[in-house]
Amino acid sequence: MATAISSVGLEDKVTSFMKKDRKMLINGKWVESISGKTFPTYNPATGEVLVRVAEGDREDIDLAVKAARAAFEAGPWRKMSPSDRGKAIWRLGDLLEKNLEEFAELEMLDNGKPLKIARVADVPLAVDLFRYMAGWATKIEGNTIPFAKPGKYFAYTVREPIGVVGQVIPWNFPLLMAAWKLGPALATGCCVVLKPAEQTPLSALRLGELIQEAGIPDGVVNIVPGYGETAGAALAAHPDVDKIAFTGSTEVGKMILQAAAGNLKKVSLELGGKSPNVVFADGDIDQSVAGASMAIFFNHGQCCAAGSRLYVEKSIFDKVVDGVSEQAKKIKVGPGWEQSSDMGPLVSEEQLKRVCGYLESGISEGAKATAGGQRKGDKGYFVEPTVLVNTTEKMKVVKEEIFGPVVVAIPFSDTSEVVQKANDNIYGLASGIWTKDLSKAHKLAAQIRAGTVWINCYNVFDAALPFGGYKQSGWGREMGHDALEMYTETKAVCVGL
Ligand code: NDP
Repeated sequence: MATAISSVGLEDKVTSFMKKDRKMLINGKWVESISGKTFPTYNPATGEVLVRVAEGDREDIDLAVKAARAAFEAGPWRKMSPSDRGKAIWRLGDLLEKNLEEFAELEMLDNGKPLKIARVADVPLAVDLFRYMAGWATKIEGNTIPFAKPGKYFAYTVREPIGVVGQVIPWNFPLLMAAWKLGPALATGCCVVLKPAEQTPLSALRLGELIQEAGIPDGVVNIVPGYGETAGAALAAHPDVDKIAFTGSTEVGKMILQAAAGNLKKVSLELGGKSPNVVFADGDIDQSVAGASMAIFFNHGQCCAAGSRLYVEKSIFDKVVDGVSEQAKKIKVGPGWEQSSDMGPLVSEEQLKRVCGYLESGISEGAKATAGGQRKGDKGYFVEPTVLVNTTEKMKVVKEEIFGPVVVAIPFSDTSEVVQKANDNIYGLASGIWTKDLSKAHKLAAQIRAGTVWINCYNVFDAALPFGGYKQSGWGREMGHDALEMYTETKAVCVGL
């Protein structure tokens, strides 16, 4: 452990957090796994072990679900006044903000992202999310329902918490994904079992300590780190879980769906993407180039919304490709703790192999890299920011989610062609449009089948803005008012007068 972070000069809190094996949070207690097993979490910039973490499995998940169920039924959270519930969630946001530096460092070490990015993106966005959701705790409302024949009946709806929720999250924004999931569940009065990704369990575990400090009662949030095939699968299949919320690959999303069928638990899924980013010739080319670069290279391309298919109007294709390639070459790739690093390593050796596999496949099929194209160095999991041209629609690099800093640039002639190409994919998560012609932008926005359309911007997230996918990018929406729908049931109450 010491070698992994000794050179980094981190604050004491983070180094002491790494000094002992991390336990799991069940029913307000920090406990070891029933099996006694632990698993390592790595620093992706060096490949070294940071710390070992309790390895949850079926039995631990079962205990955590029992704790969540008991807390839900006893109702210390569900029956708390909405105002007090909101205050506790707000306190959690405050505590997170107070410990911003520590969380940014944890994200940098565990995930690999640059510290300077975690400080301004991951942690503040998570703080905002908790504050936004704190406000909703007092505003979970139903309706009064006008009947066809008034006077005989009076009817109204109430929205009640869905119950015990299982949440399985990925590694690309470990803290933020925990916040996206926990925020609406807490605001609506649900109780939770959260399973962080095996690559990045640390910030969720530290968040568990803040959840306790914020005064959220025991058993309301249980955090069980472990592997997807064991702990994750057990949570998805558990008969006493009322809802499962998942973010990750479409492949695992489909497995979650099957596992959930046993007790027909409700399911929400935020899955993969291969998002089209469309640049028209009438736009501000410098702005489009900067936006297209950020759309793919932010977070090393490890974003479900990454603008990984760049469609450029033919007349400016070369100019935009040159511009994005120049930007790619300028990106300083290095360990997250160096102030100069714009891009860190990929999260794991597995992701490194996966992304390099895509690069090899694309290039061997005839694609040309105008920037990057390979692994960077031989220590840590770094990849060069890459721009590929000369692709065809059949290539895997055009069709499949790469989840790395790799964009394919493709020319188009007119709007109808680009609509057809943009929609020609199994995913429908996000998209971008760059043009000065607002009429064209809105017409195109209406035709693209994606959960988010960014016009003259990209990767803009806000706690109030719903996010989620069409087609195989998922079911339901995260954030915004929409997220609350996924954590409540509607009850209709009808009174004979
Ligand atoms: P996964 O979908 O495997 O992982 C996401 C989460 O699901 C993790 O917590 C994982 O646990 C868990 N999980 C894995 N298998 C199961 C299962 N059978 N039942 C329940 N939970 C399970 O993604 P990977 O980490 O394998 O990444 C592979 C690809 O997925 C990426 O290259 C990218 O394309 C996509 N992805 C998409 C994300 C998004 O934001 N939409 C985020 C991350 C990945 P564990 O970590 O232990 O495997």
